[in-house]
Amino acid sequence: MRLPGSGQFIGSLIGQCLGDALGFPVEGQPYPVCRDYVQEIILEGPGLRSRPGFVFGQYSDDSQLARELILSCVELKSFNPDDYARRIADLFSMGNAVGGGQATLDAALRLAQGVPWNRAGTPSPSAGSGSAMRAGPIGLMFYDETESLIRAAHDQGIITHRDIRCSIGSVAVAGSVAYALVNKPIDREDFVREISQLVGVIDQSAEVVYSSLTDWIELEPIDAIRAIISSGYAFGDWQDWQGLTPFVTGTVLWGMYAFLHSPENYLKTISTAIEIGGDVDTTAVIAGAISGAYLGIGSLPRNLAIYLTDRGTWGYGELTQLAMDLYNLKILRKELSPYA
Ligand SMILES: [Mg+2]
Repeated sequence: MRLPGSGQFIGSLIGQCLGDALGFPVEGQPYPVCRDYVQEIILEGPGLRSRPGFVFGQYSDDSQLARELILSCVELKSFNPDDYARRIADLFSMGNAVGGGQATLDAALRLAQGVPWNRAGTPSPSAGSGSAMRAGPIGLMFYDETESLIRAAHDQGIITHRDIRCSIGSVAVAGSVAYALVNKPIDREDFVREISQLVGVIDQSAEVVYSSLTDWIELEPIDAIRAIISSGYAFGDWQDWQGLTPFVTGTVLWGMYAFLHSPENYLKTISTAIEIGGDVDTTAVIAGAISGAYLGIGSLPRNLAIYLTDRGTWGYGELTQLAMDLYNLKILRKELSPYA
C-alpha cells in the first residue's frame, strides 16, 4: 500500500474547511443562485464572498466538528467516542457552533445533560448529513485498518444520528478519504466498487445505492442530479429544483460525484459540489475532504485557503499544524491505536 504524504493529510483538512468556507455564503440557496455564484465568484472572480455577519474564510459546524475529531484523536492517540461526544456537547452548549442541524443540536443537548454517547443520537427516521459531513478525518486515522475505519465512522456518527443511512454515509465519506490517500491515479470504477463494498458491511442494501455512482460519473452535473433524484436518493423534482436537502444519502452521493467528475481539479470539484444548490457547505466539505486527500495541499488554492478562520481562531496555520500532528502520530511515530 502506498504511504500517504503529509501534504495529503493537510490537504484533506484544509480541502474540507475551504470547501465549507466557499459553500457557507450560499448555504440553503436555490440552484440558480448557487450556479451563478460558482460561475461569477469562484471560477471567474477571486472567490471572496462572505456570508453576512462573517468574514470570508469562516467555516461552519461541519469543519468545526471535524477539527474537534482530530484534536481528540491527537490528544488520546486513538478515536475515543466519550471524549468526542464531550467536545460536540461543549461546542454547542458554549454557543460556538456556526450553523448546525436540529438533530445534532438536540443530541448535543442530551449529551450535555449526561446521556451517554451511544444513546444520545437523534433516532430514525431523522437522516440528515450531520454525522457524515465530519467523518473525513476517520479516513486519515484508519486508512490502512478497514475494521477500525468502519467501526469508528459508525460510532462517531451515532453520537448524533442513529439512523442506519447516516452510519452508511459516514462510512462512505471516511472510506472515500482513505481510498483517495493511497490510490493514484484514481480508477473511478474501482473507487466506487471499494466504497460500495465498504458500506455493504453496514447494510447490504447500501451496496446497490452507492454502486449506482458508476452510472453517473460520466454525466454532466444536471444529468447526474436528475438521475439521483429519479433513483430516489435525493428529494425534489427537477422541474422545480431548489437544491439538495440535508438528507444524508443524496448529499454524500453528490459530494462523491463532485470529486469523481473532476478528480484532478480541486476548484472544479468544489464548484460542482456547490452549483447544485441547497445544503452546499456540506456537499463541498465532503468533496473537499476527498479531493484534498487525493491531490495534497500543493494543489489547493493557497490564495483562498490563507483566509480560513473560525472567528479569529483556528486559521490556516493552526489547521495545518493539527493535520501535521495527526500525520506524525499515525505515520511517523505509528502511535495511533486501532479502534476495535
Ligand atoms: Mg454547516
